[in-house]
Amino acid sequence: MKNNNYNFKTNVIHAGYQADTITGSVMPPIYLSTTYKQSAPGKPIGEFEYSRSSNPNRQFVEQSLATLEGGHFGLCFASGCAALAIVLQTLPTGAHVVVSDDVYGGTLRLFAQVYKQKGIDFTQVDCTDLAQFKQALTPKTELIWIETPSNPMLKIIDIEQIANIKNTTTPEANLFVDNTFASPYLQNPLALGADGVCHSTTKYLGGHSDVVGGALIVNKPELNEKLAYMQNALGAVPSAMDCYLLMRSIKTLAIRMDAHCQNAQKVVTFLNSHPKVDNVLYPGLPEHPQYHVAEKQMKNFGGMISTTFKLDLNQVKSFLGHLQLFTLAESLGGVESLIEHPAIMTHATIPPAQRKALGISDGLVRLSVGIEDADDLIWDLKEALEHVK
Ligand SMILES: *Cc1c(COP(=O)(O)O)cnc(C)c1O
Repeated sequence: MKNNNYNFKTNVIHAGYQADTITGSVMPPIYLSTTYKQSAPGKPIGEFEYSRSSNPNRQFVEQSLATLEGGHFGLCFASGCAALAIVLQTLPTGAHVVVSDDVYGGTLRLFAQVYKQKGIDFTQVDCTDLAQFKQALTPKTELIWIETPSNPMLKIIDIEQIANIKNTTTPEANLFVDNTFASPYLQNPLALGADGVCHSTTKYLGGHSDVVGGALIVNKPELNEKLAYMQNALGAVPSAMDCYLLMRSIKTLAIRMDAHCQNAQKVVTFLNSHPKVDNVLYPGLPEHPQYHVAEKQMKNFGGMISTTFKLDLNQVKSFLGHLQLFTLAESLGGVESLIEHPAIMTHATIPPAQRKALGISDGLVRLSVGIEDADDLIWDLKEALEHVK
């Protein structure tokens, strides 16, 4: 199939799987078999030997994700954290990594608590400031890890500019972009010069808050080989059932993302005019500091909103307690709306001083706007805010 010649909304339906040649099944069967018959020692009948190394369902979804990101190779993992850990496993002791300042809590934990002890040094910088980013690069820098839009401050990093600086300063280093918040529908980092893309497929790609997973997409064959080797060697792979669920979810990614973006715009408009709201962070607002970067590199602005209320901690808790449709829970990207308190929940592992410097205050709340009716979502927020005394 001429995967790369079709448009995104066709690729989500068709990329990675065509009707089975034996049974004609239009949708992929779930291949639960852990092992595959060989016709003679070392001569597998098909292309599979053992399910940790590869299996049909994983191959289908890996090809689908590669196509959606406009890349050559896709690799799936048991979680987004496993995907990052695999990248870090390929680095030699003594390597240096530049990491954007506002990253997922679990990402920072892997750098600061796990791999630092194993001799992987890292520097965190605000990568929206290109001069600061350039200064952080050293001759030992082998990896640049950025997240855009970032979590939870929704900063936008100019991927193309970061790639250009990397190419002139440390061309051997690989630039990876955690594209979880945007999804491949809204942003394709490889086309902007990145060497690799990471997804927590648990979020928008899975889209229904019922399957944990991670993925890497790369173009360079030698990078893919290293990562695929570690994927098999360490074995943090998703099950066939997980891959099947992910493949099923991907079919509606484009229409879900359109709905998330539309609803988020409406919720932003409501929050922006509410007297109890201090500040709304959303890359689609013209007053967002990197609005023009977002406009340039994203197709739309996504379903994530962070907002600071003019409320103290107890008042914020009261607001969260009165919501009926928004569920108080970690995670994001599902069809249902979620809300969370970064300082106490997702970003609790980040040291308080660093949280403060990033702007993660007690009044900050992060919303993952679902695809329910926007009027109902706005009603819910309005009612809960009225309850706060
Ligand atoms: C959730 C998340 C991760 C980690 O993924 P898991 O699937 O939970 O391991 C990494 N990056 C971002 C931006 C995330 O939101």
